[in-house]
Amino acid sequence: MKHKTKDNIHNLIIIGAGPAGLSASIYASRYGIKHKIVGALLGGQISETHKIDNYPGMEDMSGFEFSQKWGNHAKKYGVEILPELVEKINKENNIFSITLANNNILQARTILLATGTKKRKLNIIGEKEFIGKGVSYCATCDGFFYKNKIVGVIGGSDSAATATLYLADLAQKVYLIYRKKELRAEPFWVNLIKKNSKIEVLYETNVVEILGEQKLEKIKLDKEYKNSKELDLDGLFIEAGSDPATEYFSELGIEMDEGGYIKIQKNGATNVLGVFAAGDITDGSDKFRQVITAASEGAISARAVYNFLKTNKK
Ligand SMILES: Cc1cc2nc3c(=O)[nH]c(=O)nc-3n(C[C@H](O)[C@H](O)[C@H](O)COP(=O)(O)OP(=O)(O)OC[C@H]3O[C@@H](n4cnc5c(N)ncnc54)[C@H](O)[C@@H]3O)c2cc1C
Repeated sequence: MKHKTKDNIHNLIIIGAGPAGLSASIYASRYGIKHKIVGALLGGQISETHKIDNYPGMEDMSGFEFSQKWGNHAKKYGVEILPELVEKINKENNIFSITLANNNILQARTILLATGTKKRKLNIIGEKEFIGKGVSYCATCDGFFYKNKIVGVIGGSDSAATATLYLADLAQKVYLIYRKKELRAEPFWVNLIKKNSKIEVLYETNVVEILGEQKLEKIKLDKEYKNSKELDLDGLFIEAGSDPATEYFSELGIEMDEGGYIKIQKNGATNVLGVFAAGDITDGSDKFRQVITAASEGAISARAVYNFLKTNKK
């Protein structure tokens, strides 16, 4: 199968360069489907992670190194990865037109949506104003700026737990602030948190306001901690979960579940002919959103694309 057909229409465009998109690309290449990837961040979410240590065969590796290895593996087969954002997709006469942020338009017979999720904002008073001035959504990216400082992390999931542990290596003190009675992160992380003397967990507590002059100086809590509802901080990391990144294909009429995740069949096909999806953006893999499941869905979808193109040969 050719990368571009005579009419300049690609057989496949993969949108997303995370584990799902890169794994799909490796399989697509090996099926002989020459294709392109459009993906803003090589490696996806895992590239911004401090460490990954649960992917078989890749022990205790930084998220950045892990992502580079995957990117290089996909590129070994000659795929071009465009580091661009997709803004819009529409479909006419069974051809998809994919509009990029740089105004280029790619056309394709099939598309594979692998754009994962994006970090949820909490809309706390002051949150928006202090983004980049003390409020961050990425501990690995910004943690360095808080060496020997006092920081807070909001959340109770695996990503909140790993961000907290990472920050504890750098900061003087880390408050993990969670609205429930118990953290919901893996027990492995919870044990490490409990053993770390730099970390204090404030359970059943919400942050209601972020305060400061030029930059974040303190936060207001909805209940007292050491006789005050105010807590002095240098930085606040928000790890409050994620939502699927789906706005750009709203015109396609793709079926989603109540949480906004794409409904897929066992082979990664969606309800729209020629559209496949893989990874964190789908309702697949029992919603167990991990690198290993994203990679698996990517591989399965690439095979489905191959079968689809074979059956619908032009
Ligand atoms: C802090 C943290 C720690 C984690 N630790 C682990 C771990 O230890 N082990 C583990 O297995 N999993 C871990 N995960 C989960 C894992 O990162 C995800 O399950 C996995 O990255 C999902 O892969 P994906 O390819 O579906 O999506 P993503 O990794 O989210 O990749 C999405 C891709 O799509 C691109 N994209 C998004 N929107 C657009 C657009 N409009 N146009 C173009 N490109 C777009 C992005 O730039 C990116 O390239 C962690 C996640 C976080 C946040």
